[in-house]
Amino acid sequence: MAEYLQPLIDGRWVDGAATVRSLINPATGEVIARIRDVDATQVHDAVVVAKHAFEQTNWATDTPLRVRVLRKIADRLEMAADEFARLETQNTGKPLRESELDVADSVSCFRYYADLIESKRPWQKEMWDGSKSLVVYEPVGVCGLIVPWNFPLLLGVWKLAPALAAGNTVVFKPAEITPLTMLKLGGLAQESGMPDGVFNIVLGDGQVVGEAMIRHPDVDKISFTGGSKTGKHIYMTCAEGLKRVSLELGGKSPLLVFDDVDSDISVDIVLFGAFFNQGQVCVASSRILVHESIYREFIEKLRQRAMELRLGDPFDPDTDLGPLASAAHLEKINEYIRDAQAAGATLLCGGKVKPDLGPLFLEPTIFVGVMQDMDIVQEEVFGPVITVQPFASEADAIALANDTKYGLAAGVITNDLARAERVARSLRAGTVWLNGYHTPHVEAPWGGFKHSGIGRELGPEGLTGFMEPKHINIHP
Ligand code: NAD
Repeated sequence: MAEYLQPLIDGRWVDGAATVRSLINPATGEVIARIRDVDATQVHDAVVVAKHAFEQTNWATDTPLRVRVLRKIADRLEMAADEFARLETQNTGKPLRESELDVADSVSCFRYYADLIESKRPWQKEMWDGSKSLVVYEPVGVCGLIVPWNFPLLLGVWKLAPALAAGNTVVFKPAEITPLTMLKLGGLAQESGMPDGVFNIVLGDGQVVGEAMIRHPDVDKISFTGGSKTGKHIYMTCAEGLKRVSLELGGKSPLLVFDDVDSDISVDIVLFGAFFNQGQVCVASSRILVHESIYREFIEKLRQRAMELRLGDPFDPDTDLGPLASAAHLEKINEYIRDAQAAGATLLCGGKVKPDLGPLFLEPTIFVGVMQDMDIVQEEVFGPVITVQPFASEADAIALANDTKYGLAAGVITNDLARAERVARSLRAGTVWLNGYHTPHVEAPWGGFKHSGIGRELGPEGLTGFMEPKHINIHP
């Protein structure tokens, strides 16, 4: 067990001023670490240090230094990939092979942004009046990065790599229950030549530590990933100080299954989209829409295959689903299941915890016979719980898919490429997968329409979100 894992402020592991908390392995219930959180005064200290590093060191201006440090972090992370993946699985309960993917994608993200800033040239143009225009991109300043517990390392790196690449300094807050891989990354960044004060990590509760970050006048930008309710609160609070804000929020993503694809293939995609990371994924395909001509046959096959998924030890390579992240989260999911049944939805399979495995192993759960206005269709459950509905036509499918306040992602399964493109363009979502699901691409933007967020991560947009463009006009 790791004793007293500490916050990182100004390149030093400091003693948190708040109470000590235990972190639990959700698969076994064992205490895996003890953490001492910071208080609001220490958040202030971290912001002061980050502001000083931004203004008084060459981090913001020395692009070769940043490229070098980011590449070193990527190399060291790659070398320590096994350790990081095992730690992530211990802390979150996600199957080890999923943690391995997260680490590999994190390495790629650091490399991508190092390459991007190395290649970025200012835009220049001769103007009609003989003057020359130059557009340069400068860092925003001190960035507060706040992430949830479902992909503690990867979602952190999606913010951290571009924020640092752009020349900002950072105060980072992991989720309360899953700080371990980010703390390890903090140590690795210091060993990679990160100047003191550029990357600080504060630990603790959203209501105390997160709140102090979003209210601090010297934090120039907040980049947040988490629930839409928290996101709305952060947006409103940041408006007071006119902070820059980007928000990656919740989803209720539809996956449209047309009748021209082999149903075994469609079922594979649906199971992967719905139950990857126990369904605790913002883009999880939680609403399956199936053409009515294959609906009966499809739900029977889906039921059988869902019941064959293996729940168990996340370190076992044969495991499909591990435990949920925490007892509090399981209770929220159980409430959705109970409410759906009370509202008249039919449970096709699942709905129960498997106590022989441990208190947090919930069966893959599928509801049918749902109405469009039920909470189980409209609200994000964030667990292994999905609904399946029939549709009559392409237009009907698109209307059902878009009938949600969210717009994070969607999927389409069809062999008709013209239809695939037509439907993809009609779906109001930031990512649409055709005949597959879940693959992010570091070069492509990631984010949501509607209540799923504001701004984009990844790709060039992920970098410019951490920059201020400046026009310099030079007269001869
Ligand atoms: P959450 O909103 O409860 O917490 C997210 C983070 O915000 C945590 O670090 C928390 O401590 C912090 N926080 C809470 N209250 C705060 C406050 N008042 N001020 C500042 N920070 C505060 O979300 P969660 O339950 O941890 O995560 C699940 C949610 O995240 C889901 O809705 C999911 O869809 C969303 N999510 C979105 C994406 C995406 O890319 N769009 C990715 C992953 C998760």
